[in-house]
Amino acid sequence: MKQENECLTCGKCCNYVTVALDEPSDYDDWNQLFWYLHHEKVFVYIDHDGDWFVEFKTKCEQTMSDGRCAVYSERPEVCRDHEADDCENNNCESPYLELFANVDELKEYMQKKEIDLEKLKEKSYAQAEQEKKNEETESEIDQEEKEFEVEPEEELDEEQGEEQDEYEDCEPTICIQGLREETSKV
Ligand code: SF4
Ligand code: SF4
Repeated sequence: MKQENECLTCGKCCNYVTVALDEPSDYDDWNQLFWYLHHEKVFVYIDHDGDWFVEFKTKCEQTMSDGRCAVYSERPEVCRDHEADDCENNNCESPYLELFANVDELKEYMQKKEIDLEKLKEKSYAQAEQEKKNEETESEIDQEEKEFEVEPEEELDEEQGEEQDEYEDCEPTICIQGLREETSKV
């Protein structure tokens, strides 16, 4: 029979942190999991709902020597949501559907699921290469558009400059001619 204060003395649920993950689908996702698993006391697991988590085995600093919580009345919501009836200590069923303690274990799972890491890697590199080409093409198009925008302005400036030069060249001639005409009348 379950004791009344069982939840206050065990403290097992205060010895780790879990963070939900998206189910891995591409090379980068799996690679990220490898990175987690290369670390000490870091695990990846799938729960019974098929959800993925990373678990860090690290003791909460608020756990007292007798296993009780030092900030019980102000404990975070995630601690309040953890029901003793469903916890790993009272439940005969393990919370893990699959648990990976290292990269080899994860690779073994991938093999079982026929997930080909090399193919995912090739696909990822091909996508990256394609994205790079697309960016280069976009950049070239942008450059051409910029040149196209600048050219007419330059031409216009040149034309205006030429007109101005012509006007400046002509103006004294007209004036002198006009002066001659005026003079000849007199
Ligand atoms: S919730 Fe479970 S694991 Fe956490 S202290 Fe209570 S009995 Fe222990
Ligand atoms: S705050 Fe308290 S209940 Fe929450 S993990 Fe830490 S010791 Fe446990």
